[in-house]
Amino acid sequence: MIRLRFAPSPTGSMHVGGVRTALFNWLFAKKNNGKFILRIEDTDKERSSKESEREIINSLKWCGLDWDEGPDIGGEYGPYRQSERLDIYKKYINFLIEKNMAYYAVYDKNNNEIYTSNNYPEKYKNESIVVKFRVNKNGITEYNDLLKGNIKFRNDLIDDFIILRSNGIPVYNFTVVIDDHFMKITHVIRGEDHISNTQKQIMLYKAFGWDIPEFMHIPLILGNDRKPLSKRHGGTSVEYFRKEGILKDALMNYLALLGWTINDEIFDYKDKINDFSPDNISNKGVIFDYDKLEWLCGKHLRLMDADQLINEYIDWLKYTDNHVLKDYIIKNIEYSKKVILICREKINTLKQLKDFSYNFFIDDFDYEEKYIEKYLKKEWIIELIKTSIEKFENLEDFSIENVEKILREIAELKITSKKNTFQSIRGAVLGKLVTPGLFESIAVLGKDRVLSRLRRVEVFINEYFKK
Ligand code: GLU
Repeated sequence: MIRLRFAPSPTGSMHVGGVRTALFNWLFAKKNNGKFILRIEDTDKERSSKESEREIINSLKWCGLDWDEGPDIGGEYGPYRQSERLDIYKKYINFLIEKNMAYYAVYDKNNNEIYTSNNYPEKYKNESIVVKFRVNKNGITEYNDLLKGNIKFRNDLIDDFIILRSNGIPVYNFTVVIDDHFMKITHVIRGEDHISNTQKQIMLYKAFGWDIPEFMHIPLILGNDRKPLSKRHGGTSVEYFRKEGILKDALMNYLALLGWTINDEIFDYKDKINDFSPDNISNKGVIFDYDKLEWLCGKHLRLMDADQLINEYIDWLKYTDNHVLKDYIIKNIEYSKKVILICREKINTLKQLKDFSYNFFIDDFDYEEKYIEKYLKKEWIIELIKTSIEKFENLEDFSIENVEKILREIAELKITSKKNTFQSIRGAVLGKLVTPGLFESIAVLGKDRVLSRLRRVEVFINEYFKK
C-alpha cells in the first residue's frame, strides 16, 4: 500500500509552498488508493507553538487536504505529533548505542567535545551530553530521486552527527526516519531544500536495516527575483490569501499549476487525481505570480453557481469578522444572491466583491467625492431627481426592460445629457460612479430601495445647497 505524509514543523504560518507539497503528496496517495498522513514535527520546543499547529490544521482543512488516519479525537482524525512519540525515539537511540553505531559525547561550555563513550558518562552528568551517530566515512551514499534522478553524496564529507540533543530531544533527521519507518511511508515528496538531509537519513535507515522510501524533491516556489518565496515578496500564508478573499478552489488550482504539467488551466484538483504522476512534475523552479492567482480566482468566482458563491461569501465574511454584513446577507439571501451575481462580473476576489457590492447592502453610504463634484452641484440635478422619483413611483414591475424604458424616458426629457442623467441616477442609488450595469442594478435594488435612495439624495442636495 502506498503511504505518504505531510510533516510540517509548527513554527509559523502555513506557507503556500507547504500546501503545494501537501497537495502533491495527497494527490499521489489518492491516485494510488493509498493513505495520506499528517505528522506535526514539533520536537523543537522553542520554535514550535500550538497556535501555529492550529493554523496549519485549519489551513489544510480549508484547502480540502484531509488526512486518512491518526489518533481519534472525538470522531475525527487528529494529527500524529512527534512530541507524543519521544519514548519511541529514546528506544531507537539506545538501540544504536548498544550496537556501537552511536555514542555519548560531552561538550564543555565553549562547545568543545571533551569526552566520548558508549556508556552514559555519569561523571559528566552536569555537562552538556549529546548522542552522536557514528558515520562510516567510506564510499558514497546514493539514491534515485523520482524527480532529480541519481543523487550521490560523499560520506567522507560529513562528520558524526548529533541525533539526541543535550535537552533529551532527538533531531529532525533522526525522528523523521523513525516515524517514516513505523508509519510505513513508501514515498517522501518534499521540498528540494531537504536533499542534503537525505544522506543522513539514508545512513540511519541502513543502520537500522530498514527499507528506504522513495524520495522526490520538488523545486521550491520562488518570488520574481528567483529567491525562495518569502514575506519579502508579499503574503505567503494560506491565511493571508484567505483574508484577501482568494477562493480555496482558486488557490488550490493555482498551486497545482505550480510545477505540475497538466493539460488544463481551470479545474478542481479533486477532479484531477487520476492525472497525477511524478512524471508530470517539473524540475524547474516556479515563480509565484500573484496576478495570475487573482485572475484564476475571478474565473472560479464566475463559474460558481449562486448558492455556492453566496456560501463562500458568507464564510469569508465570518472569517474576516464582518458580522453585521454577514447577518444582513443571511436575512436577505435571495436579494443578496442577485446582487453578487451582477457584481461578480467586474471583480476577482471576495474582498473586491465586498467593496464592489457594499452599497447594495447598506442604505446610509457616503457619496463619492467625484460624484458630488461632477453631478450633485449642477443646477439641473434637483429637477432630474424629482422627475426620476415620480417616474419610478409609477412603475410597479422593476424588470430590467421596464427599468431601461423608464431611464430612457427620463433621458428623453433632456433635463441634461443622457450620460449625465444615467450617472446622476447611478450615484444617487449606489453612491458611486462605477457599479454593475445601471439597468440591472436598479432592477435588483427594487422599487423600495430605489425610491428611498432617490429621496435621500434629494434631501442631501437640498441640505448641500443651503450651506
Ligand atoms: N518538518 C520538516 C519540514 O517542515 C519535514 C521535512 C520532511 O518532509 O521530511 O521541513
